[in-house]
Amino acid sequence: MTSEHRAPLRVAIIGGGAAGTLAALILAKTPGIGRITLLDRDGRFGRGLAYSAPEKWHRINVPAYKMGGCGADDPEAFVDWLAGNGHVTGPDYSTSFVPRWLYGDFLCAQLAELTASGQVEARHDAALSVAPNGGGYRVVTASGDAIEADLVFVCIGNHPPSGFGPVEPSPRSISDVWAANALDPIAADDSVLVIGTGATAVDVVIDLVHRGVRREITMVSRRGLLPRVDIVAVADPDPVQTWPVPTVRGLFHALREDIRRKAADGIPWQSVIDTFRLQTAGFWQGFSETERARFSRHLRSIWLAHRHRLAPDVAELLAQLQQKRQLRVIPARIMTAPATQWGHDVTIRARGLETIHLATNWILNCTGPEERYDRVNDPLVQSLLATGLARPGPTGLGLDVDQKCWLIDRAGKPQPGLFAIGPATRGTFWEVTAATNIRQQLLGVAEQLMADQRQSSIRPK
Ligand SMILES: Cc1cc2nc3c(=O)[nH]c(=O)nc-3n(C[C@H](O)[C@H](O)[C@H](O)COP(=O)(O)OP(=O)(O)OC[C@H]3O[C@@H](n4cnc5c(N)ncnc54)[C@H](O)[C@@H]3O)c2cc1C
Repeated sequence: MTSEHRAPLRVAIIGGGAAGTLAALILAKTPGIGRITLLDRDGRFGRGLAYSAPEKWHRINVPAYKMGGCGADDPEAFVDWLAGNGHVTGPDYSTSFVPRWLYGDFLCAQLAELTASGQVEARHDAALSVAPNGGGYRVVTASGDAIEADLVFVCIGNHPPSGFGPVEPSPRSISDVWAANALDPIAADDSVLVIGTGATAVDVVIDLVHRGVRREITMVSRRGLLPRVDIVAVADPDPVQTWPVPTVRGLFHALREDIRRKAADGIPWQSVIDTFRLQTAGFWQGFSETERARFSRHLRSIWLAHRHRLAPDVAELLAQLQQKRQLRVIPARIMTAPATQWGHDVTIRARGLETIHLATNWILNCTGPEERYDRVNDPLVQSLLATGLARPGPTGLGLDVDQKCWLIDRAGKPQPGLFAIGPATRGTFWEVTAATNIRQQLLGVAEQLMADQRQSSIRPK
């Protein structure tokens, strides 16, 4: 029996954000794939969390050309689409950090062709559970449907942080800044404390400033590191090579040396980091659990500040706000934050061990997505873990998957045809968050699927 004679594979994709939509677009072109059902709890097809942000100051965090296209053969597709629709004129680096909703529009336009052809059905519904069913799976949804599929892709993306440390819960502490209208109650004259200094925190500060908040905004994180500024890329033809994988500290040392050496040749550190990034999954998998934990404890925030960067004008705006003392960035830990009538009384311990007290009207949790899935408050995740069909990933991050992105069950057995894609696989691969990484992961999965089909045509189960 050859693959042409096999029934086309039925696919269910859970999550219609960038990852789920890219999965639909890539799988639709993969031989042997039949009908695809794309489920999204919030109906945010093609957008998910990142690309449904409505304002023009919610911008992509890389120049548009780095977002790539939808497959292996169309790396310019987004830029071409932007130019074709009059959103950018020419390859101008500084204006190409376009609003995020434009990337959502781009994905929606590609998806619309597939839904019109009938190959993909987009359903506004939440998956509650997945269970083995014959040789495939059954996905039960909140509306009571049961979808039978040969392949299931779990593309559920980013989850809000689950804890708020020592901050006493109150109507003036916002733990999910991504929730619709979460920032609406903050008034122009309110003071705000933002916990976190990474990409989410910067996004929120920019949002507050554009909303007209005039009082001081304070950002606090252990190291107080803001993302660094991006610049025009220069090709780095010779990425750092340090096989076999050394310790995390050894690797950082090698990377620093490489940056220093290349600076003399006019290659900026940003470009060195970008080429190095292509190998991070390999390094991560080569590290022991102890080394991974060491990285998470000591070097993660330094890495993230260099890896997620700012558009030059955003970096400039943050610098101006700091100069005007409208923005303070403090390396510190929150010690206590009891609620008061007007907000919170906060005690923070700065890195120099100085104790600072401040009264603030609002505290916002901008520490980034919850990465430990055993803490995620989502019925599907809880069901996958409770039934043992999935288990937490290495060092407790995301869900455990094998090299094919098949979920690994509680007993350690990979589940054929049950995939996790994107941020859920961070325990195994570390960084699968940016659109480019997610697309790369999906292209690998599609290639593997084709190879598996060829294999099973010679050796049927
Ligand atoms: C604020 C922000 C800005 C970012 N900016 C960029 C950027 O500029 N460039 C870049 O490359 N990357 C960016 N990223 C990284 C981002 O993670 C990826 O680009 C990408 O958006 C991740 O897509 P996703 O589909 O995995 O996740 P999400 O966008 O979180 O989408 C997951 C979807 O799954 C749905 N869902 C969840 N559970 C269920 C369920 N049980 N049943 C049905 N549906 C479900 C959700 O409703 C959601 O729509 C950003 C991330 C964030 C959070």
